[in-house]
Amino acid sequence: MESCIFCKIANGEIPSATLYEDEDFRVILDLGPASRGHALILPKEHYKDLYEIPEELAAKAMKTAKKVVTAMTKVLDCDGYNLVQNNGEAAGQTVFHFHMHLIPRYKGDGVGLTWKPGELEDKTRDKILAEIRKYL
Ligand code: 5GP
Ligand code: ZN
Repeated sequence: MESCIFCKIANGEIPSATLYEDEDFRVILDLGPASRGHALILPKEHYKDLYEIPEELAAKAMKTAKKVVTAMTKVLDCDGYNLVQNNGEAAGQTVFHFHMHLIPRYKGDGVGLTWKPGELEDKTRDKILAEIRKYL
């Protein structure tokens, strides 16, 4: 993808603050961090989102997250971590090259990743369960 900024960053065409790199991924610091140490895992190959990325690579992204989060926690003195992975504009995705956010959390940091809990109605639950099982 010639016009994709994350392709250029992941493949080193554009310099970035790189925390970790292997044959499949580059892990960089986010330019607009939600908190101190906010990082992004970028695959070197272009996949738009979770629907497109191959299963094996998605699994490796999670392994990479574990590795980086474990190392970062040793140095950041954070109190927790959120992994966030947006798919589609409605879900807040702004760069359409698969990425996973690693967001360190600090007590009282005010980072807004919360929602107002709704209610799971019986009818909705039964319909979802009946229909989803056909595809799994
Ligand atoms: P999304 O909203 O698509 O899940 O997240 C995109 C993220 O990429 C945002 O957190 C934004 O700050 C970050 N970002 C966008 N452009 C760049 C860039 O050129 N370099 C870096 N390091 N981060 C970027
Ligand atoms: Zn790309």
